[in-house]
Amino acid sequence: MTGDVFDPGQLSRCISCGFCLPACPTYAMTGDEASSPRGRITLMRALQDGTLPPDDPTLAEQSSFCLGCRACEPVCPAGVQYGSLLEQWRVHQWRGRRRPPLARALTLVAGQRWLLRLLGLVRGAARGPAAPSPTTAGPAAAPPTTAAEPAAAESGAGEPAGQLMLGCFERALYPAVSRAARALDPALAVPSAQGCCGALHAHNGDLAGGERLARRLGEELPGTIVTTSGGCAAHLASVLGPRRVRELSTWLAGRPPGTELRVAGRRARVTLQDSCHLRNGLGVFAEPRALLRQVADYVELPSAATCCGAAGTYSLLRPNDSRRILDAKLDEIEAAGVDLVVAVNPGCLRQLRTGLRRRRSAVRAVHLAELLAEATAPAPPA
Ligand code: SF4
Ligand code: SF4
Repeated sequence: MTGDVFDPGQLSRCISCGFCLPACPTYAMTGDEASSPRGRITLMRALQDGTLPPDDPTLAEQSSFCLGCRACEPVCPAGVQYGSLLEQWRVHQWRGRRRPPLARALTLVAGQRWLLRLLGLVRGAARGPAAPSPTTAGPAAAPPTTAAEPAAAESGAGEPAGQLMLGCFERALYPAVSRAARALDPALAVPSAQGCCGALHAHNGDLAGGERLARRLGEELPGTIVTTSGGCAAHLASVLGPRRVRELSTWLAGRPPGTELRVAGRRARVTLQDSCHLRNGLGVFAEPRALLRQVADYVELPSAATCCGAAGTYSLLRPNDSRRILDAKLDEIEAAGVDLVVAVNPGCLRQLRTGLRRRRSAVRAVHLAELLAEATAPAPPA
C-alpha cells in the first residue's frame, strides 16, 4: 500500500461523473478512458490504495502523457483540483532516477541564480531603457546596454508600482517581452536580484523545490509581482496568494488604449492563444482579449482555450504528442485568416513560433506585451 502519495481529501472529491472528458485534449486524441481526467484519477486511487504497484507502466505513461493543462478543472462540478493532484503524482512517479533527465537538467539550470543573472546581463532582459520591439515588421530591437534601477513608486494608473518578474526561460529566450512590458508601464521596477518562480520545478516532480523558489521570489519582489508569463502567474498565486501576483493583461486592464495596429495598410487581424494555467487556474481570459480588441480586429479561435501542446516541458519530453496537438491548432489559425497569433506565456510563444516557421506560414506569433507596445509606440517621423 502506497498510502501517502496524494492528499486524500483532494483525491476523494471526484464523483466520477465524466463531465471533464470532453474538455481533455489527451482523451480527444485517444478516446481511451485511461487518458482522461477521470481515468487518471482512478489510476491515482489505485496507486494510493496499492491496487497498482508504483512501477506499473500505465501509471508511468499516463502521468507523463497528461499535459497538465487543467482544462478539466473549470468544468468539474465537484471542484477537483486536478493540477494539484498531478503535481503530487509526479513527485512520486518521477522521484530519483525515474525523473526524465531533460526535466532534471532544465530545473537544475533554472534553479541557478548566477546563471539567470548572467543571462539577464547578456540578453539585456528588461534592465534598460524601455523600448517596444516591432511585431508587424522588421527585426526585434537591439538589447539595451544601460542598466536601470527600480523606477517610480507609482504606475500610470495610480496603483503602486509593480515589480516586473523576468522569468528564467523568458529571460534567456525572449528578453524583448520584458522590455515591451516596461515600454507599456515605465514605472515597473525591475530588480536585478530575482530567481526562477519554481513553476518548472513544481510541474516536473519537485513540488517542494517549486514552492521554495516561489517564496524566495516573493521576498525578492516585495509588493505586487507583475509577470508576462501565465504559467508563472498561476504557480506564484498558488504559493503566495492571488493578491500578490498580476499577469500583465490584468495589470494593464483599464489603461488608455494604444493606436490602431495596421498590417498592409489595414487594421490588423489578430487572435489569442490562451495560457492554460492562466485561464484554467486563475480564470483570466477576458482581459487580454479586451486589450487586443482596442487596437486590432480580434478573431476568436474555436480552440483558443485548448492547450497548444507546449505545456511547460511537454513539447521537449513528448515531442510527437505535442506536435499532433499543435498541428491541429495551426490549421485552425491559418484558416482564420489572421495576421498575428498572440501568446501570454513564453512556452506558448515558442511553440507557436516554431510551428508556424516550420510551415513557412505568413501568420506571426507574438507576445501580448510586444503587440501592445508596438500599438502604443510613437509613430516614426514622416
Ligand atoms: S468532472 Fe470532476 S468529478 Fe467529474 S469525473 Fe471529472 S474530475 Fe471527477
Ligand atoms: S490536465 Fe489537461 S490533459 Fe491532463 S487530464 Fe486534465 S484536461 Fe486532460
